[in-house]
Amino acid sequence: MPDNDFGYTRWGKDWVRLAEPLGQTRPDPQLPRARRIARDGGVQITIDGRLVRAAINRGRTTAVATIEVAPMSLERKAGIARRLSGARPVLTDELYRAITDAGHSPAPALTGVDCSCTAGTSRCVHVLAVYYEMAQRVDDDPRIALDIQGFFRTASDGADISTAVTPQRWIALNTLDPADYFSASK
Ligand SMILES: [Zn+2]
Repeated sequence: MPDNDFGYTRWGKDWVRLAEPLGQTRPDPQLPRARRIARDGGVQITIDGRLVRAAINRGRTTAVATIEVAPMSLERKAGIARRLSGARPVLTDELYRAITDAGHSPAPALTGVDCSCTAGTSRCVHVLAVYYEMAQRVDDDPRIALDIQGFFRTASDGADISTAVTPQRWIALNTLDPADYFSASK
């Protein structure tokens, strides 16, 4: 892999994996272009809750892509919260490994991917560029990896809560709605 500048943390690597799934047998020929767009600052991102809105400039054209990240299950939130300490925990690669080894992988799942271009695929070069841009952002601040899955919010009212709050209280605060966790792409 020639590009170690994307996903040099475990947290950021999860976003690289969206562009480069482990099960992929042949490399996607669009990947070098997507990396170049991200590296050249061609992706403008706005994160709004679990939505990533992005404008991707390539040559003279601009595409608009939206990526929706699935909310993290309460069980996983609780499992991860048990490993965090303090109001502003430092999300190291060691912590990532511990969380994953305990069966609570923090890798994001996507519920919706949309792009304004005419490629007619959810893996167009614009969307791939957004994954790389997100990998860079998460490398810079791994808290984004959890925040974008609603980790720091309650499911019911979206209010910010501290990671110092006990997992039991989180579960009590929330009402389980299976539709939130098993909804299809919108
Ligand atoms: Zn596109």
